[in-house]
Amino acid sequence: MINKEWHLANRMPKNPTLDQRVQWHVEHARNCQCRKLEGKILEEIKKRGIKI
Ligand SMILES: [Zn+2]
Repeated sequence: MINKEWHLANRMPKNPTLDQRVQWHVEHARNCQCRKLEGKILEEIKKRGIKI
């Protein structure tokens, strides 16, 4: 299920920094389930001890 409103209100910046990507994916995972959190970003989120 995609949270279209959230996506429209929260676009990924162009050429995002790692911090911006992490922040986006954390907020995304909290608000939308359209794709799984995985790979490098998931590792980075875990490494930073961020709770989803
Ligand atoms: Zn989504």
